[in-house]
Amino acid sequence: SKTILFKNRPKGKPATSDFEIISEEDPKPAEGEILLEAKYISVDPYLRGRMRDEKSYIPPFELGKPLESMVVAEVVESNNSNFEKGEYVSGMLQWKQLQTSNGQGLNKVHKELAPPSAFLGVLGLTGLTAYLGLDKIGKLKEGETLVVSGAAGAVGSIVGQIGKIKGCRVVGIAGSDEKVDHIKEKFGFDEGINYNTTKSMKKAISEACPDGVDVYFDNVGGEILDAVLQNVNKDARIINCGAISLYNETEVPTGPRPEGILIKKTALMQGFLIRDHAKDFGTALKQLGAWLQEGKLKYDETVVEGFEKLPEAFIGLFEGKNTGKMVVKV
Ligand code: NDP
Repeated sequence: SKTILFKNRPKGKPATSDFEIISEEDPKPAEGEILLEAKYISVDPYLRGRMRDEKSYIPPFELGKPLESMVVAEVVESNNSNFEKGEYVSGMLQWKQLQTSNGQGLNKVHKELAPPSAFLGVLGLTGLTAYLGLDKIGKLKEGETLVVSGAAGAVGSIVGQIGKIKGCRVVGIAGSDEKVDHIKEKFGFDEGINYNTTKSMKKAISEACPDGVDVYFDNVGGEILDAVLQNVNKDARIINCGAISLYNETEVPTGPRPEGILIKKTALMQGFLIRDHAKDFGTALKQLGAWLQEGKLKYDETVVEGFEKLPEAFIGLFEGKNTGKMVVKV
């Protein structure tokens, strides 16, 4: 069976040569262990951060070792009474087709609720991030204007729909006209802006938000954040969820200073990390699941086929190749 190792720390944008695919003997589960066969593997922008040799909220990947991310796997052998052969589980696992586990940190996947891959997206960490980021920091009120960047992506597309469920005007920022049309047609966004073809983002946001911006859910940082800040209302809330436009930068770029605006508008700008909110996952998942059942929430997936395509799928995130959650089907 195959494993993908971390070979080089990328400088700038990652390349497939930063990864190495090797073949290994199939692992055997010891007493108390299970054997897992990966079915769907999540690729996520934050993995780029773990490729830097820097201290962060999560340790960096080690060179020559397998990468890891959230995986949905089938239990194919069990020496552990808590797991049955044929069950599906999800958890932070290695980029391996087959691996053993003692079961710690794994969650059962309830296939009757949604297709297994949904537990990496709308019913996994990206859905939770959308829901809890908005809930904890956004505190959306009916009638407010919500702007979200990365709007056609996994987190952003859920953020926008929750905004509509809460009765807000929702404006999405994305990288192509197709994505802008899509978020309006499928997800009910009121307006969309293609940042790749828009000369003045400040002006475009002001036109799309005639009453100003009350909540900005930021997935991209950089110049788009600067432009949204120019349009915020008094007591606006800005959720710093991600900054993908900066993840491949080798130096931190300088830009307009936001503090003047934050003071004048008494705006709140706060970082958000989903890992700090585990105690609220149960409630959030219940609500996300209910909205799915009621047809109020929809989701997209971009499914790349083949274990060996993991590096390409990951790199594709920085090229906007995905709509909705990017996953690899093993
Ligand atoms: P997405 O599904 O949104 O995929 C990434 C998207 O980012 C791409 O599709 C692309 O869309 C867009 N993008 C890529 N490069 C740029 C760029 N230079 N400028 C603007 N947009 C760009 O990923 P996720 O939904 O998984 O994650 C979204 C953000 O949320 C990321 O920043 C991620 O790190 C963050 N995150 C944070 C968490 C937390 O706990 N804080 C948890 C989960 C995610 P386009 O075609 O529109 O450019």
